[in-house]
Amino acid sequence: MTPADIEFDQRHIWHPYTSMTKPLPAYPVESASGVMLQLADGRQLVDGMSSWWAAIHGYNHPQLNQAAIAQIGKMSHVMFGGMTHPPAIALSRRLVEMTPAGLECVFLADSGSVAVEVALKMAMQYWQARGEKRQTLLTLRNGYHGDTFGAMSVCDPQNSMHSLYQGYLPQHLFADAPQSRFDGEWNEADIAPFANMLDENHHKIAAVILEPVVQGAGGMRIYHPLYLKRVRKLCDEYGVLLIADEIATGFGRTGKLFACDHAGISPDILCLGKALTGGYMTLSATLTTRHVAQVISDGEAGCFMHGPTFMGNPLACAVANASLYLLAENRWQAQVLNIEKQLNAGLRPLAEHPAVADVRVLGAIGVVEMRQPVDMARLQKHFVGQGVWIRPFGKLIYLMPPYIISPEELSKLTGAIASALTTLY
Ligand code: PMP
Repeated sequence: MTPADIEFDQRHIWHPYTSMTKPLPAYPVESASGVMLQLADGRQLVDGMSSWWAAIHGYNHPQLNQAAIAQIGKMSHVMFGGMTHPPAIALSRRLVEMTPAGLECVFLADSGSVAVEVALKMAMQYWQARGEKRQTLLTLRNGYHGDTFGAMSVCDPQNSMHSLYQGYLPQHLFADAPQSRFDGEWNEADIAPFANMLDENHHKIAAVILEPVVQGAGGMRIYHPLYLKRVRKLCDEYGVLLIADEIATGFGRTGKLFACDHAGISPDILCLGKALTGGYMTLSATLTTRHVAQVISDGEAGCFMHGPTFMGNPLACAVANASLYLLAENRWQAQVLNIEKQLNAGLRPLAEHPAVADVRVLGAIGVVEMRQPVDMARLQKHFVGQGVWIRPFGKLIYLMPPYIISPEELSKLTGAIASALTTLY
């Protein structure tokens, strides 16, 4: 990459959540293999982010590569309207088997945000088909569900997205986020704000949507599974659908295959994405129960009203199948448990630092919450200098490495956070 390429990038290409006039630095990356990212200047960085929860088996994996190559030789894409194919069938069969009980009908879409849109539309159509006008959603503060309009409308209202699009976004209900920590005592009072809101508004609520156990981009909060259990029970009592957004937590990241498994519950609708293809390409799935699917299908429209061009993309499905195969073969549970032990050992002691507000660990997720928002560019520079790729946001410095990371590589990640605290704070 030439300096002119970098200049072009800065002048013409949007990166996630950045300004076109004052862009944050974007490090040129040339290739990636295993847990290593190779920068254009030859530097090698240990990846601590799994490219935002996705690359669970690391990069350039021979089996995932092979799955993609083999599928390209057959067909990269073909329309899903009126046609079907083995990669989509195999993937859907596997997802029905592995996800919490009762989820039987699979909608394959393009990205996490679209999976959420699909889930919300399923809930709307469900109530419409039952002849009830229910269009309000109940969700939690500190939640994050994506950047499209429907998804944004259920993201935490305090962040700028709601104020920016005020008047355009539908108004939904937000219960206070759970306070009982995953690793602490369960406080029964924690469910009261949610229970009260549901009690007062249930007649107009189509669905509850939440991220089970781990609230990701809205604060990396890790809450008690009993909260989720109570939510399921309340949804049943009031006859409200429950949508679990496991786009970030799915496929073992929290130490269970799905975060819902911590509470032993099944949602009515489940959203999956990110790690579904092992981070190779974009693909998502929204699963629902036979009951929900049947009600929608028996409704006035006679069908579910969604059908993207790249629905069920065979190439993405083929890689997803290989990724799910690897997940089992690699014994993800042992991988994640080892990472969890090491994150506990490497990060918990940092809680003593005066600039640190809290340290949280669950599965292959490690979070150091600072007292003040961090200077992202400065920290990032420090991390790259240490040979690691860690991208903080807000007050959070966090790790979610590929499951294949070695103890030495993981030490490098936790060591780099420790050294950032000593040298920059
Ligand atoms: N839901 C959750 C919980 C997420 O973490 C994300 C992505 N950060 C999304 C939805 C949106 O997924 P995507 O970025 O693929 O649209």
